[in-house]
Formats: sequence, structure tokens, C-alpha cells
Amino acid sequence: MLNIKLRTRFAPSPTGYLHIGGLRTALYSYLFAKQNNGQFILRLEDTDLKRQVEGAAERIYEGLKWAGLNYDEGPDVGGDFGPYIQSKRLKLYKNHADELIQKDRAYYCFCTDETLEKMREEQIAKKQAPKYDRRCLNLPADEIESRLKNNEPHVIRMKIPANRIIEFNDIVRGKVAYNTNELDDQVLLKSDGYPTYHLAVVVDDHLMQISHVTRTEEWLPSTPKHILLYEYFGWERPHWAHLPLLLNPDKSKMSKRKGDVAVEDYIKKGYLAEAMINFLAFLGWNPGTEKEIYSIEELLKDFSLEKVHKAGAIFNIEKLNWYNQYHMRQMDLDKLTEACIPYLTEKGLIFPKFDHSFEIAAIKGPFTVKEFEINQTKEKISFDFIKKAVALERERASNLSQIGESVRLFFEEPEYDKDLLFWKDASKEEIKNSLKILEKIINEIPEKSFTKEKLQEIIMPEAQKLPNRGIMLWPLRAALSGQKASPGPFEIAEALGKEKTLERIKKAIEKL
Ligand code: GLU
Repeated sequence: MLNIKLRTRFAPSPTGYLHIGGLRTALYSYLFAKQNNGQFILRLEDTDLKRQVEGAAERIYEGLKWAGLNYDEGPDVGGDFGPYIQSKRLKLYKNHADELIQKDRAYYCFCTDETLEKMREEQIAKKQAPKYDRRCLNLPADEIESRLKNNEPHVIRMKIPANRIIEFNDIVRGKVAYNTNELDDQVLLKSDGYPTYHLAVVVDDHLMQISHVTRTEEWLPSTPKHILLYEYFGWERPHWAHLPLLLNPDKSKMSKRKGDVAVEDYIKKGYLAEAMINFLAFLGWNPGTEKEIYSIEELLKDFSLEKVHKAGAIFNIEKLNWYNQYHMRQMDLDKLTEACIPYLTEKGLIFPKFDHSFEIAAIKGPFTVKEFEINQTKEKISFDFIKKAVALERERASNLSQIGESVRLFFEEPEYDKDLLFWKDASKEEIKNSLKILEKIINEIPEKSFTKEKLQEIIMPEAQKLPNRGIMLWPLRAALSGQKASPGPFEIAEALGKEKTLERIKKAIEKL
């Protein structure tokens, strides 16, 4: 355990949704803080006005809470270092930009967008790397004063020293060095009075006493600028850990065009938080053993920021499905059933509908409703009925939404073509005869002993009498499920109950 006051933060921009890669960053930051008795902070970086989206902040709060990554301080929970939303801290950034002007570490720049664009085009034409040419660096003091007085639009830029090597030790990447000649005189304060990311992130990480900055690798080239700012302000640097990017299987950067990237899309499909955490933990780290199944408590013991890999981590949906299947099988059946209920209502199989939206039900479950109705028939059903259906389907599904779909056969009359009832080359008479025998013998089973064991005990000897037992078992399963592949006929019959089982057999006989 590190012997300092350790504070990490997750600092997303509320531009729409919580990105799956963001959740991985948050997880690593959380684990590192919590395994060292430290604090984990949420800060919203909303200084790019053009990219703000209504409701995006709430989606970040909900996603983190769903995953169990509870933050000690943040916009909606408060804390001693707030406000935790950058747009509420504008004065601070302005004061700090002014301080750098006083210290001659920054300067006013009055160049218009057109001037900058022209400069860029000319540099590109001359095959030079586009860079601010510093034409405002040495404006005379009286000219600056009068232009400011006239409210001429301007920005504040930082002075980057020439030809200096900036070095730091990244926890993940080891020694990293940049030459300042590669850097532009970065804008710190924009003409609308908003700070750029670079100024805001440094001011906030310092004032919020962040000891370790964990973020993805795309921010690595920004770090030398941040180091200079720490120096200019006379502040102690934090430690940095630049995490590997998440990649599509084709090694491209994960993006919306290639699949789901929003955490809420995975919640809607019915991925369990436990599975998601387990999966994300391994995108950039592994324990170096065979152990693949981890709860968050176990991660707190074994995770190590120092062992995070440098190479990009491939987001493999099959692996996520595998984890989800595993965690669904492990889950207490009552809890799993509760978790499935929003999906059953969403697919129109059962009532009640929740008064809040499906998304909220899926995120917030477990719920308190205890009475249910089959939507199609308005028949009252018990929690136990739903539970039996879920128990049968959980083996084959890789998410809750799939369970929600595959249990349909328990809640709606199956629709199927009569050809489905035929076993191999059995004749219509043989199939019809089988179903009639089934109708008769099932009818004789008393309601209270209508179990899969009993059904098997009564039906198997009859099926054995036929040239092939498929002649009886296949049409039974087809009649009950209406599907080519489904759980076994005895299990389905038990879950449906005697009455429905007989009804479905009758319907099948009528079809033939
Ligand atoms: N606001 C930045 C982002 O959305 C945060 C980068 C950082 O953590 O410094 O990724």
C-alpha cells in the first residue's frame, strides 16, 4: 500500500453517454484508489460548449453506480473540493490564466480564426507542420492594453520554451520524453472565457489534490504541456498512468460505427454489472495466472496498476458473452429472475409495465412488484412461474434480453407450421397417434405431482414401445415450444403446468 494520501479521479466529458472505455478507465482508477485506502473522485469536464448534451451527466452517474463504482466526491454527491463540474469553476481558470500572464508564462493572442486558417494553409503549402507562428508573442504593452480596452476578441496562450526535453515516469509506459519543439503555444483560455482542457485539467487536478492521473493513452502527448504548467504555477506534479486504448477486433479504435460503445447499450441488452466489471478488468491487465473469474472484491486484492499493459486491448464481444453467461449461471435464481422481469415487460410478455422507463428498471432493479399477469391471456401468474421459465432458458442465453426473448414460449401460444411436428420420416398417423397417447396419459397425472420426473416416468415407457422414441418425444417438444431447438419437453411441460401442456397438445393434434 502506498504511504501517501492517494486520490484518483475519473474526468469524462458529458457529451452523450458513458463510453465503455471510460468505464474501464473509471474501474482502474477506482481499484487503484480503493486498494490504497484512497479516494476516487468524479469530475465533469464540460468546457467544450459545442459538445454538451442534455442529460449526459445523469447517464454518467447512473452508469458508474450501476457498475458499483461509487465515487467519494462528485457533482451529485458533493465533497470538500467542489464544484466538480468545470463550467461552474470558470472564475478559477480565468484567475490562473491571468497569473501566468503576470508571470510572463503566457500571452494574449488576438489572431482571428481566418488569420489562423490562412497561417495553417500557408504552412501546409510549404510542407511545414502546422503550428502557431507566435506573431502575438511580442506585441508592445500599450498595444495590448488598448486592444483589450476595445474588447477585441482574444485568447491566452502558454509560452512553450524552445528545445527542452520534458521527461516523466509513466506508471504504465515507463520513461517518456518529449522535446518542446514538438509543442504548439497551446491556447489556455478561449475567447468565450472558457478554459481549454489543458488549463482546466491541471488547475483542477492540483486544487482537487489528485495524486494519480489515470487516463487513456490518447492524452499522452498532452502531458508535457501539463508538466510545464505545473512548473509555471510552482506546483508539485501528480503521477501519471496512461492506459491502453480499447480496440475493435480489427485493431481500429472502438467507435459507434463498429458496435455498441455506450455502457447503457450493454445494460439494455442485459449484461450484468459483475460480468462487465470482470471483463473490463481484463482489458489491459491480467493477474498472470489462470484465474479468469474475478469479483470486484477479488480485483481489489489482485489488480495492479503497475502491471497494466502498454498494448491496446481488444474488445471481444464473445468474451464478454462468456463472462456474462458465467455470471448469470452463478447468480441466485430469485435475483436473476428479478433482473429479467424488466426485459419480459419490455418484450410485452407480462404486466405490469413499470411506471418508470425500461432503462431505469433495468438499471435500478430489483423492484417491488410481486403480482404479474400474462399479457396475451390476462391470466394471473406467480413469481415462481416466471422463475421456472428463466431457470430453463438461462443455460442457453448470453444476456438477460436473450432470456427475455427465449422465455416467450411460456407466455404466448407458440405459432408454428405443422411440419415442425414431424420426426424424420415418421408418418402423419404415427405422429398423431403419439400425441393422442400423450394427451391421455398426461391427463391422468394428478395436478400436484406434475413434475418433470413424473412426466418422464410415465412418458418414457410409452415412447420406448415405438420403433424410435423420437416419434413421441419430438412432436411433444415441438407442440409445447413451437421451436426447433428448446429445452427438453418434460422441463417445459412442468414449467407450463398441466392445463397449458394439454391445451398445446390438443392444438397440435388439430393441426394434423
Ligand atoms: N475530459 C477528458 C476525457 O473526456 C479527460 C482526460 C483526462 O482524464 O485527463 O477523456
